Amino acid sequence: MIIKLRDDITQVQKDQLIDQINSIGYKITAVKTQIGEYLIGIGKADFDIRRFGHFHGIKDIHIVSDDYKLVSKKWKVKPTSVDLGDGVYIKDGDMAIMAGPCSIESEDQIRKVIDHLKAAEIKIMRGGVFKPRSSPYAFRGLGLDGLKLWHELAKEAGIKIVTEVMQVSQIEEMYDFVDIYQVGARNTQNFNLLDELGRVDKAVMIKRGISGTIEELLQSAEYVFSGGNEKLILCERGIRTYERASRNTLDLNAVPILKAKSHLPVVVDPSHGIGIREFVPQMALAGVMAGADGIIYEAHEIPEKAYSDGQQTLNFAQSALLADQIRQTFALRKSFSLL
Ligand code: PEP
Ligand code: MN
Repeated sequence: MIIKLRDDITQVQKDQLIDQINSIGYKITAVKTQIGEYLIGIGKADFDIRRFGHFHGIKDIHIVSDDYKLVSKKWKVKPTSVDLGDGVYIKDGDMAIMAGPCSIESEDQIRKVIDHLKAAEIKIMRGGVFKPRSSPYAFRGLGLDGLKLWHELAKEAGIKIVTEVMQVSQIEEMYDFVDIYQVGARNTQNFNLLDELGRVDKAVMIKRGISGTIEELLQSAEYVFSGGNEKLILCERGIRTYERASRNTLDLNAVPILKAKSHLPVVVDPSHGIGIREFVPQMALAGVMAGADGIIYEAHEIPEKAYSDGQQTLNFAQSALLADQIRQTFALRKSFSLL
């Protein structure tokens, strides 16, 4: 069960309520986020919801039988809108475009990408400064200094930053320089990292684990929400299957399913999803039609020279064209009442 508390609830009222819920054999976890305060009751006994409804200090009470609760749509029907400031949102009914290189490489590269994004009216730049690489000998990113430089240039241009955080110790040092913390596919179930991101008042985008189920992605988001952070975005980036013709299998089924199960915005990453440059645009557009609230893809001035993931990276002309097509496709989707 989820109980949303009123802002004016007193400690005495809260204690009485907790005692009552404990008395039916439910264990309570208290959650306080930037937006509200909740009691999550976990238990098996059937009970009549009206037994609690009259308590002072309760705003809403809901039965949510899913293992994930706070991210469930059963509790909160209204979609979550993630506000990045300056009129930039990631939310249902909108189409966020995030583009940029796999890795941040140099000042020159950052400047060129920013110029491209501005020309294409893309407001969020992606890029990695801490890179999770399958080989320890591959380029592992410019680190915090790279992020600081990037932030300075992006801020000047009015562009928001989404970048991966790999470990707990990086959260604080990155805080002033990011708009969205990205949790990578290799870290989706790093529960220490998720716990700590729950304590941060900044947006978090969680990528689906390489072999992760939809349910597991939602549980990972539940970690962050129950830790106190409601500013969450889910990202489908392809899963590992038996298929070897593409880098991953972009599971577009996950998009309508996640949107039906959760109130959180859903973003699709076609670059990692298929891993083949020439097929990234069609998978991006398919993601839009599947109901995504945003698309994140890799773009670089000269993809062949990119330090990482060049094989799935668009050049600026391809990226500008795709951004346009994403907007057109989104307009088309909105014209279909079913979607
Ligand atoms: C990335 O976005 O560059 C990345 C490493 O993604 P993922 O965690 O999905 O592999
Ligand atoms: Mn990449």
